Amino acid sequence: MTPRIPRIGFVSLGCPKALVDAEHIITRLRAEGYHIGNSYQDADLVVVNTCGFIDAAVAESLEAIGEALAENGKVIVTGCLGAKDNVVLDNYPQVLAVTGPHATQEVMEAVHHHLPLPAQPFAELIPPQGIKLTPRHYAYLKISEGCNHRCRFCIIPALRGKLASRPLGEVMQEAENLVQAGVRELLVISQDTSAYGVDLGYRTGFWGGRPIKTRFRELVAALGSLGVWIRLHYVYPYPHVDEVLPLMAEGRILPYLDIPFQHASPKILKSMRRPAHTENTLARIQRWREICPEITLRSTFIVGYPGETEEDFELLLDFLRQARLDRVGCFTYSNVAGAEANDLPGQIDEELKAERQARLMELQAEISADRLKEKIGRSMTVLVDAVSPEAIIARSAAEAPEVDGVVVIEPDGQTPPQPGDFIQVEIVNSDPHDLYARRLG
Ligand code: SF4
Repeated sequence: MTPRIPRIGFVSLGCPKALVDAEHIITRLRAEGYHIGNSYQDADLVVVNTCGFIDAAVAESLEAIGEALAENGKVIVTGCLGAKDNVVLDNYPQVLAVTGPHATQEVMEAVHHHLPLPAQPFAELIPPQGIKLTPRHYAYLKISEGCNHRCRFCIIPALRGKLASRPLGEVMQEAENLVQAGVRELLVISQDTSAYGVDLGYRTGFWGGRPIKTRFRELVAALGSLGVWIRLHYVYPYPHVDEVLPLMAEGRILPYLDIPFQHASPKILKSMRRPAHTENTLARIQRWREICPEITLRSTFIVGYPGETEEDFELLLDFLRQARLDRVGCFTYSNVAGAEANDLPGQIDEELKAERQARLMELQAEISADRLKEKIGRSMTVLVDAVSPEAIIARSAAEAPEVDGVVVIEPDGQTPPQPGDFIQVEIVNSDPHDLYARRLG
């Protein structure tokens, strides 16, 4: 009789970096011959990939573990929450195994132990690009793990360790495999993208027999030669970020920079342990726009950090007025178990935090709306994400998937495009988040 092939259920929570971890684990499971189940009931065991970044994420992860235990019973926990002292086992002593993030090998060992494959499994062929959880035409490319900074509000370095860059040849091979499999856009992610290679002393790596330094600019230039969209996320504002601007101006990578500034008051930035020269930042932004007028700048900010006065907050609003960033995310500060900022004096009242967040977002909505309005009448290339009888949903170079707006195109009787197609459009309208366009010939 044919042995039943063990089936693993997979629940993945958290950020794009956690998604990449999940892809690696699923790829290994499939490569070894395991099946991936679609429901708790048809799985023999469930892996829950957790997030432990903020308290809300901890609660969501614990809830997911509880649900998997109730519905299935055999559960392995991985991800950031697994790295937090005993939180998982204190709540659910019955889970089979717990690992931290970026732990494909440990997860596989636990799976082998609790759900071994039959003696002669049907090993399935697996595409060389691995299994992807994102739509087929875009993919996240994780270039490093961990972070060497010690921002006071953040526990990622404690959870994920110091910066560990992937070898350049390995990153490029994965990128090439993805492109050959039909991916049209690579989203470069890590905790600290611009630090790539620092931990390896910028040693020389090899790709296609060519020596290339393991360094941010060199990696980005090599990715830019693959003929697909390359989008940079989580770029820490180091001075050497300026080196990739010419690559954007030359059209080798997308003119898009996701660069978290977090605040603009020098006092708050200093307390956060972030670069604190706001005037320099404004001058740099201006220089970037001179080198590459098309550049889209996305950033995130924290309001209500301990000690933030009305004056500090006004400095932040002034910065936004001057910087006129294209896309902005704003979080209210919250204490995260284990973060140094928890012990700082001057903790801000929740109501005031929410009020500041609303004021910031109101100002930014006006700025973003103006920036988008400036695009009306322009022609551009967009990448199609989804097609329905009502509309074609696409993105231009200025919109990253899931975090930014979209370009909405009305169907016009032409043969509909497919997700993953590049098409030409003219922008005809805008609102504070999205653009509206008509398709060109
Ligand atoms: S740079 Fe980012 S990941 Fe690193 S400590 Fe600061 S906030 Fe955390």
